[in-house]
Amino acid sequence: MTSPARFPSRLRVRTQESMALHTSFGVGGPADYWVEVRSLDALRLALESADHLKVPRTIMGHGTNALVADAGVEGLVIYNRCMDFEPSRTSGLVRVGSGHSMARLAGRCARLGLGGLSFAIGVPGTVGGAVFGNAGAFGSDVAAVLKSALVWRRGHEREMAAHEFGFAYRHSNLQGDATDPAVLAASFRVQRSDPAALRTELLALARRRRATQPQGQNAGSFFMNPDGDYAGRLIEA
Ligand SMILES: Cc1cc2nc3c(=O)[nH]c(=O)nc-3n(C[C@H](O)[C@H](O)[C@H](O)COP(=O)(O)OP(=O)(O)OC[C@H]3O[C@@H](n4cnc5c(N)ncnc54)[C@H](O)[C@@H]3O)c2cc1C
Repeated sequence: MTSPARFPSRLRVRTQESMALHTSFGVGGPADYWVEVRSLDALRLALESADHLKVPRTIMGHGTNALVADAGVEGLVIYNRCMDFEPSRTSGLVRVGSGHSMARLAGRCARLGLGGLSFAIGVPGTVGGAVFGNAGAFGSDVAAVLKSALVWRRGHEREMAAHEFGFAYRHSNLQGDATDPAVLAASFRVQRSDPAALRTELLALARRRRATQPQGQNAGSFFMNPDGDYAGRLIEA
């Protein structure tokens, strides 16, 4: 195993970090190496150093779509907390770091009177995880609102337009990509709206979610719905 000392010291890489602490199911064995990043620069450094040291790497958001084996994770797990938030009323876009929470994004935009992202109140996890899986709720999804996202691949980064992600139901072409791409940041389209109306909408959506899904630790919408049916109905049948 590579010595953790070979990673840049400012990353503060830990060893044998239990993944049960970082997944919503609360299960999973240790990661060989684990690092929390809070800035885009730190995220880039973590990606670059893992590739340079030839250590396999996994970027993770809130671990709400991850079932980690008891055997743990080989290589470096990057725990993404890049939460930059740059709204722009004039351009009709909001730029966010890929470690920003989706639900919090809905709340922050609503307070600023920026509509279009209310569905995100029902999506646990981060912007990066949501782009990776085209997450959605309440009849909308990432594909409907994403303008572009900055993606890191083998030391190069490029702003990819939404149509390049090949979005389909809970799918993007980042999945299964052998280059292990990482979403660094994303730009979402927003429209000027009344903050009070947006707040009412968010409260209604949150109530709807509470009424239809169990509270506390649960698998929620972890499973994809098959055509014409619901995973929840099939599991409980
Ligand atoms: C209670 C509950 C309710 C849920 N409800 C919904 C719902 O309504 N709608 C829905 O769509 N999903 C739902 N999910 C599933 C989950 O919330 C989404 O898939 C979410 O988008 C995962 O985000 P995350 O940050 O937790 O990703 P993680 O679980 O941390 O990672 C999931 C995958 O994304 C990859 N990934 C994460 N960040 C990046 C990045 N920056 N760049 C590249 N790849 C990355 C990871 O490597 C991993 O393969 C639910 C899950 C639970 C537990």
